[in-house]
Amino acid sequence: MTEVQVASRVPLDDYASLLGTGEIDELRALAKPLRGRSAQMVNSTAVGGGVAEILNRLVPLTEELDIKIRWDVMTGGNDFFEVTKAFHNALHGGPYHSRSEDFDIFLAYNEQNRARMAFDAEFTVIHDPQPAALVDARNDRSGHWIWRCHIDLSHPNSEVWNFLERFVSRYDGAIFSSPEFSRQLPFPQYLFYPSIDPLSEKNRDLDPEFIALVLSRFQIDPLRPILTQISRFDRLKDPVGVIRAYRIVKRYFDCQLVLAGGGAADDPEGAGVLNDVRREAHGDPDIYVLELPTWAPLEVNALQRASTIVIQKSLREGFGLTVAEALWKKKPVVASAVGGIPVQVIHKHTGMLAHSIEGTAYQIRFLLSHPEIAAKLGENGHQHVKENFLITQNLKNYLVLFLTLAGS
Ligand code: UDP
Repeated sequence: MTEVQVASRVPLDDYASLLGTGEIDELRALAKPLRGRSAQMVNSTAVGGGVAEILNRLVPLTEELDIKIRWDVMTGGNDFFEVTKAFHNALHGGPYHSRSEDFDIFLAYNEQNRARMAFDAEFTVIHDPQPAALVDARNDRSGHWIWRCHIDLSHPNSEVWNFLERFVSRYDGAIFSSPEFSRQLPFPQYLFYPSIDPLSEKNRDLDPEFIALVLSRFQIDPLRPILTQISRFDRLKDPVGVIRAYRIVKRYFDCQLVLAGGGAADDPEGAGVLNDVRREAHGDPDIYVLELPTWAPLEVNALQRASTIVIQKSLREGFGLTVAEALWKKKPVVASAVGGIPVQVIHKHTGMLAHSIEGTAYQIRFLLSHPEIAAKLGENGHQHVKENFLITQNLKNYLVLFLTLAGS
């Protein structure tokens, strides 16, 4: 395990201009009884993917409220991350080819990580399946252990879920990102929406000159429509499906497609998917397949802001932070009706939902030919994110949970 040092800090008071001082005062009041108490977050990657994105902002804000919080990341070899990626796909309802050694590898790395570190916080939050077996470190009933699940568990592969459930059921509670994702478990379950930070480099306002610079660096034409999907190169994000939808749209509109993504330390499948994407895109100079560094928040921000339409054509999704990021930037979004996306994209109000390649293309064509409706969706989307999916709300949820647990 390694303790993560977060990338940057924005003082809590800076959020007042956006949310009002009342919100910030409420956070400080809730945190008061928790001052000096300790919390620990554990996940499986410090960069890349939505969980790292959230923790990078949540941890410093919690610290600012005088709660002692540390964030640890599991270490593991390729064999571990291949197994956990297979589990991830299986828990999302995909096929799983059972190998008995998978379970041994999973347990061995959890044991290794457990032995390497102290678990002495009052509130321990373990994120996702990868570190779930760390609950073995809990040798007495002191401290509160919560499993924070970020993935869609509504139709899990039963072999993988049965294995995991042995560990999950030993926590004091679980947090899910959507009511449909929860399971029958012997303890309270909580609903926390994931969140974006409006003041982070990923989401803050940018100078138009910087956006223009990023486009010119990637040689993207600012004058023609830009369709964008930003995601890890992962089959469940369906980048090849995005290209096929774009090809249909291209028959009617002279547009460009940007597929941009970096890797995540806990995702070993990226290179293979990227190869498939390049093969599918081959020969079309209007498709930009951009391999970004894992940490490139300003570039991601600029590409989202430069987009005419943002696509998120996932086949399965936990929540899909990229959707909230695009809505915050007032972008019209066309996204699949999977996982946590429909919570964010309310069809015809904050964006357009689709269920297929053809449906995605249809909605993109509709929005390209109705820019006034596209602009309205973007405005509504921004408001929806402001009311529901900002980091301050997520922080409030954790504070209330810690207070509840402390009082139990
Ligand atoms: N992301 C990024 N660079 C990339 C691809 C994704 O910074 O090249 C970010 C993206 O902006 C979002 C997060 O990674 O903040 C992805 O979260 P999401 O919930 O959409 O998907 P996950 O990767 O967790 O499945």
